Amino acid sequence: MTTIRFPPSLQRLSCLCYEHRMAILKVARLGHPVLRKATAPVSLREIQAPSFQKLIDDMIETMNEYDGVGLAADQVHESKQIAVLEVAANARYPDKPKVPLTVLINPKILPLTEEMEEDWEGCLSIPELRGRVPRYKSIRVQALDRNGQDLEFIAADFHARVIQHEWDHLNGKVYLDRMGDLSTLTFLTEFARYWLKS
Ligand SMILES: [Zn+2]
Repeated sequence: MTTIRFPPSLQRLSCLCYEHRMAILKVARLGHPVLRKATAPVSLREIQAPSFQKLIDDMIETMNEYDGVGLAADQVHESKQIAVLEVAANARYPDKPKVPLTVLINPKILPLTEEMEEDWEGCLSIPELRGRVPRYKSIRVQALDRNGQDLEFIAADFHARVIQHEWDHLNGKVYLDRMGDLSTLTFLTEFARYWLKS
């Protein structure tokens, strides 16, 4: 066995490149069995692995690339309880309130009210479609963050909607399963033409 020794400057360079090389992941589309399987919880030990941290970075990169406001790990073929979400200036949801970048690992949600609100949802795994979905207006969220620290907060309205959508993914469900009926299901072109009233 031989060992190739790089000079220290090159070692640093290769290390930096590795750490910053993010990837846009392939998104599973409806019909892929991974989307219908409940995902597995993540251990604290797993969270510390560089490969796990890279997966989170890649999920964030993928969500941003496709203008998503949330992404669950099973949507990128990793059947694990991880979701990322962020609502910044977003072309797909221009009128929505901002949500800071959040990583949720092993999330649990508890409705704080029985009140449901219906609004439009889309999904990167179900391209080109939108539909109206009832969701709890307010929820308590418990999870681990990307450092394995406890995270607990209350989310309301669109923020709560995004988390419920991602939480469903982690349990093998998609938004179509939550629609009361499919009469509002529409392609994006028809959404803009018939449903988006000014
Ligand atoms: Zn989705």
